[in-house]
Amino acid sequence: PDRARISTAKRRLGVMGGTFDPIHHGHLVAASEVAAQFHLDEVVFVPTGQPWQKTDRRVSPAEDRYLMTVIATAENPQFSVSRIDIDRGGPTYTTDTLRDLHALNPDTDLFFITGADALGQILTWRYTEELFSLAHFIGVTRPGHHLIDPGLPEGGVSLVEVPALAISSTDCRARVAAGDPVWYLVPDGVVRYIDKRELYRGE
Ligand code: ATP
Ligand code: MG
Repeated sequence: PDRARISTAKRRLGVMGGTFDPIHHGHLVAASEVAAQFHLDEVVFVPTGQPWQKTDRRVSPAEDRYLMTVIATAENPQFSVSRIDIDRGGPTYTTDTLRDLHALNPDTDLFFITGADALGQILTWRYTEELFSLAHFIGVTRPGHHLIDPGLPEGGVSLVEVPALAISSTDCRARVAAGDPVWYLVPDGVVRYIDKRELYRGE
């Protein structure tokens, strides 16, 4: 298996899972930085179905989150968007995402990109051992979130420092609700889409 992993013939696909409610420049910079450092051929953004970890708040309709992700990534030939988690229905489990992506992408190594905050919760996910056999995990650090080693398996996880971007979807939603601008925190097309669909206004 190690020999196969380092074969130059294998495609290297980054996987950026997220709620993307909304997608913002933190996500995009993280994907771009990891793609460069890990020589990825492509990064696929995978908006979640109904996220089980966020049942404490209303999540925007999947189609809105999907379209914002498409708008934000459309110009980058290295970026694409997958509907697999949305179309599967129900809560999203990362094992399902990675299994489906393997089935759709033979001869491809997967690199799952996740914020260090989310990586810290990784052991609360289901089937953790299987997860690490399905993909290499890359934790990106951002301001205010420090990775506390939760006993992650050695060699299965890399950490990458992304240029400091104190942007979160939570803050973007709060800004829209308060009437504050989100220009330059999210791509221009996403600002306009949020306005057109009147997202986040009542929060
Ligand atoms: P929320 O505030 O609603 O939790 P979020 O900004 O964390 O949203 P998600 O869609 O939950 O966005 O994040 C998708 C992935 O991107 C997660 O792995 C998350 O850790 C990571 N991420 C989020 N914001 C940043 C950022 N500014 N820089 C790097 N990675 C980020
Ligand atoms: Mg988050």
